[in-house]
Amino acid sequence: MNLLTPTSLEELSAAITAHDNAVVVGGAVGLMSAAMAPTWGSVNISLAGLGLDRRDGRQVGAMVTLEALERGGLPGRRAVLDAIKQTATPALRRRITIGGVLASVPPGPDLSVALGAHDAYVRVLGAGGQIAWHPLLRLGELAHPRVVLEVDLGVPGPSRFRRFSGHHRGGPSLVSVAARVRADGTLAVCVCSPPAPPRLPDDEHDSADRLVRSLVADIGRELGAGIRRELTDIGRERGAGIRRGLADG
Ligand SMILES: Cc1cc2nc3c(=O)[nH]c(=O)nc-3n(C[C@H](O)[C@H](O)[C@H](O)COP(=O)(O)OP(=O)(O)OC[C@H]3O[C@@H](n4cnc5c(N)ncnc54)[C@H](O)[C@@H]3O)c2cc1C
Repeated sequence: MNLLTPTSLEELSAAITAHDNAVVVGGAVGLMSAAMAPTWGSVNISLAGLGLDRRDGRQVGAMVTLEALERGGLPGRRAVLDAIKQTATPALRRRITIGGVLASVPPGPDLSVALGAHDAYVRVLGAGGQIAWHPLLRLGELAHPRVVLEVDLGVPGPSRFRRFSGHHRGGPSLVSVAARVRADGTLAVCVCSPPAPPRLPDDEHDSADRLVRSLVADIGRELGAGIRRELTDIGRERGAGIRRGLADG
C-alpha cells in the first residue's frame, strides 16, 4: 500500500491529479472499518501534512477531530454539539475528522445534517486544482475526486438535532433531523435518512415524511411556539413539496 503525505496544496493537487483512484485519508476510522466503503486503496493520500488540524473561530480545518471541535466550544450551534455527541463513540471521536464525516459517501448522517441546518460551507479542492467554497449540502453534487480542506460552521442561532433509530412502519430505520431558528424567526430544516445524503425536506415521495414532520414539530416546540417554519435558503431554490406538510407541524 502506498501512502502519500503532501505538505502543500500544490502537492496535494498534483497527487490527486496523478492518481485517479487515490483514497483521501482523514482520521482513517471509516477506512479501517471493513463494514464501510471504501477501505484503503493502492494509493492513499493523507491530509496530515497540510496543517488542516487548526480552527480559527467558525473556520475549521478538515482534519480537526470531533472531540477537538466539542472541546473548543460551539456557541450558537447546539444542534452541532448534539450531533457530535451522538456520533460513534468517545474513543472514535478522538480520531474522526470533520472533513472525513462530511466527505465520506454516504456522509455521516449526524454532523452533516446539523451543519446543513446552520447553512455551513465547505472549501473544496477539485480535480483540476481549483479551490472554492460551496454550500455543504451541495458537496455531494461535486465531481470526484474532491478534497474538503476547510469547513465554515455557518450561521449561529438556536438549534436542535434529533436522531430516530429503530423500526418505523413504512419508514427508514434511521432518520436525523436538525433545525435552526433564523434571525427572522423562520426555521431552517435539514434531514437525512441514510444511505441517501443529507437534504432539505423537499421530497414529496419520501416515506419518512411523517416521521420527519413529527421530529421537526418536536424541535419547534422545544425552540419556542409560534415559529414560522421554512426550508434553508438552498431548499427554497429547489422547490418544496414537503413545505406544505412542515407548515402543519
Ligand atoms: C464504528 C463506527 C461508527 C460510526 N458511527 C457514526 C455515527 O454514529 N454517526 C455518523 O454520522 N457517522 C458515523 N460513522 C461514520 C464516520 O463518521 C465516518 O466513517 C467518517 O468518515 C470517519 O471520519 P474519518 O476522518 O476517520 O474519515 P476516513 O476514514 O479517513 O475517511 C472516510 C471517507 O472519507 C474520505 N475522506 C476523508 N477525509 C476527507 C477529506 N477531507 N476530503 C475528501 N474526502 C475525505 C475518505 O477518502 C473515505 O472515503 C461511524 C463509523 C464507524 C467506523
